[in-house]
Amino acid sequence: MDDCIFCKIIKGEIPSFKVYEDEKVFAFEDINPISPGHTLVIPKNHAENIWDISEEDLLAVQRASKKIAQGIKEALGVDGIACMQLNGRAVNQEVMHYHLHLVPRRADQPALPITRWSLKPGNMDEIKERAEKISAAIK
Ligand SMILES: [Zn+2]
Repeated sequence: MDDCIFCKIIKGEIPSFKVYEDEKVFAFEDINPISPGHTLVIPKNHAENIWDISEEDLLAVQRASKKIAQGIKEALGVDGIACMQLNGRAVNQEVMHYHLHLVPRRADQPALPITRWSLKPGNMDEIKERAEKISAAIK
């Protein structure tokens, strides 16, 4: 897409700190990193979100993320990596080109807020009802 910032990064029209590229996937450093080594993995074909991306491109992103996560672990000596992917403005997706965040953390670094939430038991009847509704809608 012409006005998509990530499509421009893939084409080299906007500079980036590339860490990986293959036939279907491009990966580069986030310039507003949550933690050092925060990397974005994106499909070369423009797709907005999980509903839009082809299965083939989704698998290519996942396959590449394994290699890249290995590279991050080796290069930076991290203890964990959060794989985070947002779909839609309602969950604060900022760039409307599918992207998987790889957010590394060493045990001695501050906790990642995205990986911490308090556990509160839900209403079992409502959970059961929603599970049945979702299950019935999966094609
Ligand atoms: Zn794009």
